[in-house]
Amino acid sequence: MNNLTDRDAMSKNENPVLLEVRHLQKFFPIKTGLFSKVTGHVHAVDDVSFSIRRGETLALVGESGCGKSTVGRSILRLFDLTAGEVWLDGVRIDSLTATTLRPLRKRIQVIFQDPFSSLNPRMRVKDIIAEPIRNFGLAQSDAEIDARVAQLLEKVRLGKDAGGRWPHEFSGGQRQRICIARALAADPDLIICDEAVSALDVSVKAQIVNLLQDLQKELGLALLFISHDLAIVEHMTHRVAVMYLGKIVELAERRELFSDPMHPYTKALLSAVPVPDPQKKTQRTVLQGDVPSPIKRPGGCHFHTRCPVALERCKTEAPAQTVLGSGRMVSCHLLAV
Ligand code: SF4
Repeated sequence: MNNLTDRDAMSKNENPVLLEVRHLQKFFPIKTGLFSKVTGHVHAVDDVSFSIRRGETLALVGESGCGKSTVGRSILRLFDLTAGEVWLDGVRIDSLTATTLRPLRKRIQVIFQDPFSSLNPRMRVKDIIAEPIRNFGLAQSDAEIDARVAQLLEKVRLGKDAGGRWPHEFSGGQRQRICIARALAADPDLIICDEAVSALDVSVKAQIVNLLQDLQKELGLALLFISHDLAIVEHMTHRVAVMYLGKIVELAERRELFSDPMHPYTKALLSAVPVPDPQKKTQRTVLQGDVPSPIKRPGGCHFHTRCPVALERCKTEAPAQTVLGSGRMVSCHLLAV
């Protein structure tokens, strides 16, 4: 067995819960015809629950279209929920009006995948970073704003003179640093990183992940790290939630999940992660077929059409969520027999 890393030790932390998502459901209506009649739904997220403690990273992983980004956007209130609750520090935020939500909004920030489109090309970097400081009234004067912007540029390891330049003058990794500085400017408790390093080159990815980890340590930030890249997730998270067709099928501490995956889908995903040590080579499980449509999901266990160990009952009976001693959750009939 490997020694416990800082990340593993941290996953046992007793910090208070910051964010709690309870039975989150988000279905998007499909409208057709002249009268926009609702003819079906995209079942993007269905009965998803998890919590994140202060200073913790929870990774939300799964193939594209599994609903992980919709979870992030639901927490940000970019749209209304179909059902479920979102709690921030003991306050239920999913049902707040825009005005009551406003003071809480700054506490959750987001970094999106594409640093090229998420920065306004007509604004200088210092104005981009100053925007949340002004919007949330976090400084009393222009001099205070300038000092804060300089401090944030320093924190994300861009020189002070970066403030006077335009977004197009920077590389992808540097732009993502600007996005991080802008997120930090609001003084948040939680940052949602939605595929935040997916568009970057491997070496730049590692630099941004290291920066996020350093900032987390320094500022006690909680991170919801949404990604399809398990190789990156393994190095930067405390716990992992694996999603398939809108549901969490396994949720476990990082070390448990990577050393002993339990759900057949998690096993298949991990078997596809490249292993640098040829001695540790594992048998790759190639899943048959594509992910079914979230408009018409298979009955029973949604994974049964691709599961290499499916039972007869999996076609008709949805598995319960089995919670094991360590708090690990797995949703599979094989664990209930
Ligand atoms: Fe496979 Fe059945 Fe488990 Fe679903 S419940 S993962 S189909 S064995």
